[in-house]
Amino acid sequence: MKETLRILVVDDNEVDRMAVRRALTQADVCIELSEVTNGRNALATLRTATYDCVFLDDCLPDQDGLTLIQRLRAAEIKVPLVVLADQKNEEIAVEFMKAGATDYVSKSRVCSETLAQVLRHAIRIHRAEMQTALVNQQLRETNEQLLRQNQELEQQRQQIQLQNFKLLEASRLKSQFLATMSHELRTPMNAIIGFSQILLRPKFGTLTHQQTDMIERILNNGKNLLMLLNEVLDFSKLEGGRLELKPELFDLTKIINIAIAEMRSLAEAKKLSLRVDIDMQQPLVFNDPLRMRQILINLLSNAIKFTESGCIWVEVKELPKNKLAIAVRDTGIGIAPRDFKHIFEAFCQVDQSITRKYPGTGLGLAIIDSLVQMMGGKIILESQLGVGSMFRIEVPRQLSLPTTMDNLPTLNLNSHEIFCSVQNPHSSPPKSSKASMGFPHLKL
Ligand code: ADP
Repeated sequence: MKETLRILVVDDNEVDRMAVRRALTQADVCIELSEVTNGRNALATLRTATYDCVFLDDCLPDQDGLTLIQRLRAAEIKVPLVVLADQKNEEIAVEFMKAGATDYVSKSRVCSETLAQVLRHAIRIHRAEMQTALVNQQLRETNEQLLRQNQELEQQRQQIQLQNFKLLEASRLKSQFLATMSHELRTPMNAIIGFSQILLRPKFGTLTHQQTDMIERILNNGKNLLMLLNEVLDFSKLEGGRLELKPELFDLTKIINIAIAEMRSLAEAKKLSLRVDIDMQQPLVFNDPLRMRQILINLLSNAIKFTESGCIWVEVKELPKNKLAIAVRDTGIGIAPRDFKHIFEAFCQVDQSITRKYPGTGLGLAIIDSLVQMMGGKIILESQLGVGSMFRIEVPRQLSLPTTMDNLPTLNLNSHEIFCSVQNPHSSPPKSSKASMGFPHLKL
């Protein structure tokens, strides 16, 4: 069905109005026509009703067509306006178009084809203009909304930045506090250890069995506490990026044998056999011997702590590309795959309850992890609950140190690349260390 177009003709001349009426009626358009004879009535009619097009005489009795168009546009009445001029004058036509007319037609050309064409053309242009205006309005609104969102985001960014500064400052203060406290506590602890050792020497008089037992307990507890303090101090240094490696050339086998000798009594106290397999053509390495010893002691004490019966193996071998592998393997309680990642986080233990069986700070593996990262190496973990665990570190034989402090790696516990696999760490015979060090694992 054809659309019925509402048309308004504004002309004081009855003959001209009739010509338009006739032409439009004869044209192939369906129209509903209204007529007014002056500008005032045209304005009033267009204020109250909507039309699809207005045919407008360029010279009305109460005002000229140009003034009427300006008034209509000022009143924001949006309708296609076709000016019907007595004579076609290019300059006046431009004036009308500038004021907001949609088209300008000479009355001498009024016939059904011309008017139908002008009408369709005017309506099409008007609708396109309306559409463009609508899109522009929507764009403006979207733009304003985006600007508002942008401002909100900027405010949020500033707030996050502020929170970040506060958190960094709090973290710095915490590290500083940890470092100061553990450093200050180490001095009296060393005195307690030193004087307990002196008291145990026979030249200071004989002690009763009970007294010796008590001083030995003071000594052992003091040593344990000192170890914990050292861990906290190391952790706070690593966190603040203040821990430096001190590399030197040394014989790795010596360091390993010394560490094993230190830990042997602990293993024997739990009736665990401690076996070593060092397979190295060249034992000299350029690394930090104290930190290498610390890593091994930590892994060994964990292996002893978490193993009730069976065996602990230390396996050392050379790898291609001038790398070394040190593995500590046990027949202990094992670790569930879901805990593989967490145990390397600071203060994280598989058993976090206060009634837990195994003592510790939960800092050992976090420190080892950071140290190994600083050395440019990686840690590999294989474990199976109830069967045992294997921690293997792979480090370059020769340390290449960053030149500035800024380049030193800080404790970054979430940056690991992890390949988890539940493996029996004893799936290959421990003695044949070459084969047993190559299964899928947790790579840190
Ligand atoms: P700590 O030993 O002081 O608790 P660590 O950082 O050295 O802290 O170890 C974190 C946790 O990882 C331990 O609490 C334990 O749950 C688990 N873990 C470490 N080594 C072993 C191991 N050899 N066998 C079983 N669990 C282990």
